[in-house]
Amino acid sequence: MLPQLHRHPWMDDDIETFRSSVRRYVEHELAPHLDAWRRQGFIPRDVWRPFGELGALLPELDVEYGGSGASLAYQLVVQDELARAEVPATTAVHSIASHYIADCGTPEQKRRWLPRLVSGEMLVGIALTEPGCGSDLKAIRTRARRDGDEYVIDGSKMFITNGYTGNLLVVAARTGDSGSRGVSLLVLETENLPGFTVGRRLEKLGQHASDTVELFFDSVRVPVGNLLGGQEGLGFVQAMSQLPYERMLLCMPAVAVVERAVELTVEYTKSRKAFGQSLADFQNTRFKLAECATIAHVMRTFVNDCIQRLIDGKLDAEAAYMAKWWCTEHQCRITDECLQLFGGYGYMTEYPIARMYADSRVQKIYGGANEIMKDLIARKLFE
Ligand SMILES: Cc1cc2nc3c(=O)[nH]c(=O)nc-3n(C[C@H](O)[C@H](O)[C@H](O)COP(=O)(O)OP(=O)(O)OC[C@H]3O[C@@H](n4cnc5c(N)ncnc54)[C@H](O)[C@@H]3O)c2cc1C
Repeated sequence: MLPQLHRHPWMDDDIETFRSSVRRYVEHELAPHLDAWRRQGFIPRDVWRPFGELGALLPELDVEYGGSGASLAYQLVVQDELARAEVPATTAVHSIASHYIADCGTPEQKRRWLPRLVSGEMLVGIALTEPGCGSDLKAIRTRARRDGDEYVIDGSKMFITNGYTGNLLVVAARTGDSGSRGVSLLVLETENLPGFTVGRRLEKLGQHASDTVELFFDSVRVPVGNLLGGQEGLGFVQAMSQLPYERMLLCMPAVAVVERAVELTVEYTKSRKAFGQSLADFQNTRFKLAECATIAHVMRTFVNDCIQRLIDGKLDAEAAYMAKWWCTEHQCRITDECLQLFGGYGYMTEYPIARMYADSRVQKIYGGANEIMKDLIARKLFE
């Protein structure tokens, strides 16, 4: 049993009730299908319709777009529950991309897409990374050229989550000169869009139920009304504006996975026998799990504090960078330590700990690689 934390101020009775209903839904309606989804390499889009009806896809969006007008904590609680059950980051990406539209879109863009994103009729992805650049977003080469009332998009994108199952895409493209001021975001409805091709689903180390693809744009035409915010050159600033929230969407699953890994390992080591005693009787096991539980506790406390600051609009970028690298680093370390205590069974993917270990690895890479987080923290230190 992990030590209980004091209930954080952002966590009230309403959120607890919401959490319980999400947990029930995830346990009964999503978790039983995960093995099949992992085997096929994606979660079908229509799975998210009832999740939307439950109010769990985008509870934080305004009531006028179908949301509940709830605080960001509601979405973070959803991600906590999904990660605990090993459901991949599909809806986290959906939330980030939807926030781009909610926070940076024109009134017409919000009316057009947000209600369909809240209901789950649409699933959205974000296409920033390209085969030639990831960390250095300024270097993107996908181009959107203005032609009358349309933009013509040419280029390709790499590693795009929801790129196969999604039907809406926020795409970063170059509308101007080199550098960050030449980048814009365009929103594309991708079904039957001429010139748009989805590459094969990429085979990954983990996160097997999440679809990750390369995307190709060959003279794809979209109306100028699809330029996010209606003004060219804002893409970099728009993407940056969402980063503190985006990073919390990575930290929350890190905490959930670490806590679950410790729980599972305590259970397992109590029942597994070696040398006439249970693994839990070895001092090494007890010390290792004591360390892991301590880190889980510190992590939850740190993330709770960041969430409070996020809700208050006071989460500074550096705190978000710190939380991202530190939580994901420890997520990988602790799933590794726990896996070790399962012995050979820990290496078998039928055991959740093996999947958690493999699924965790990407957390240090995406959402801003951890080296980039440290570089940004250091820049502030040496300012
Ligand atoms: C499963 C998965 C899902 C993804 N989903 C999406 C998605 O939905 N949308 C999207 O746009 N992208 C997505 N990505 C891409 C992801 O964001 C990038 O992989 C990430 O930003 C790193 O970029 P890169 O792979 O090009 O690595 P690179 O930028 O080439 O970096 C390689 C290594 O060099 C290091 N490095 C780079 N620059 C520096 C520096 N200045 N100082 C020190 N070290 C440096 C990096 O930290 C890293 O360790 C996904 C990736 C994966 C694996």
